[in-house]
Amino acid sequence: MSNIINGREISKKRLIEIEEKVKYLSDKYGKVPGLAVVYIGNDKASEVYVNTIIKKCTKVHFYSEKHLLSENVSEDEILDLINNLNKNEKINGIIIQFPLPKGIDENKIKFALSYEKDVDCINPINVGMLYSNSKSFLPCTPKGVIELIKSINQDLTGKSAVVVGRSNIVGKPVAELLQQENLTVTLCHSKTKDLKEHLLRADVVVAAAGRANLIKGDMLKENCIVIDVGTNVVDGKLVGDVEFDSAVKKASYITPVPGGVGPMTIAMLLENTLEACLKQCELKL
Ligand code: NAP
Repeated sequence: MSNIINGREISKKRLIEIEEKVKYLSDKYGKVPGLAVVYIGNDKASEVYVNTIIKKCTKVHFYSEKHLLSENVSEDEILDLINNLNKNEKINGIIIQFPLPKGIDENKIKFALSYEKDVDCINPINVGMLYSNSKSFLPCTPKGVIELIKSINQDLTGKSAVVVGRSNIVGKPVAELLQQENLTVTLCHSKTKDLKEHLLRADVVVAAAGRANLIKGDMLKENCIVIDVGTNVVDGKLVGDVEFDSAVKKASYITPVPGGVGPMTIAMLLENTLEACLKQCELKL
């Protein structure tokens, strides 16, 4: 049976560390990090996610702002808001919930976001920095995946990894970061011929396909490490892309859904915002 990688516990520790650093910053320099969340429309899941971010900001004593825009918002209105947030000294990090309504040029919005406040790495400048192995903000979910893998303290140099899913926000950056950690990476997607054949060779599997229970225990190598990014609702229950009950018998380590990658994503967002604050204010801890 596997060891469970408890993302909830790991993220809790990271939030305590952030809170301590914010206290120090606030006492010594009178500064607290500020995060703005921009979201559009009335998608319930986005609203829950945004409220969770704001709640965590309050917990670690960040300043936060929530900007809900109507579904009929124009591109110019979004750009105006971003420009104001870029200039706002109380705000160190900005996150925009995607997708945007039809007719809005996503690239224009991404480029408009100050690369110094782009704490989820969507501005193409930061994306380019990520793929050229330069120092920039790492996108929150991929950063969380890497931190969960690092939490088990195993030397994975030269080991093989399979990432299932090639989206710009999860699959591709996860594959890049694993490669930067010296794993040998295969990126699979919906057109991959024999997914099982690839998975059976993988020491590390990161599932980010958004397909409930796509990966079963018999598709995994004995003692592999499984990080399940997938969030799917089946019969009103949140499940991952990995069939937990069969995979848990095969893997040496596995993340649960919920309680794995999800809480880490928010912790990484707050870490990036703290880092942005330190850089922008030229402060050291
Ligand atoms: P996405 O943009 O829909 O991309 C899904 C990827 O999976 C695509 O590359 C697709 O291949 C591939 N795929 C789909 N079906 C497949 C199959 N049967 N076999 C192999 N590959 C398959 O999704 P995303 O935004 O990357 O998100 C992926 C999952 O992670 C979703 O469940 C999402 O909710 C979850 N997520 C969780 C967090 C978190 O914090 N926990 C954050 C972000 C996302 P093609 O490219 O060929 O279409």
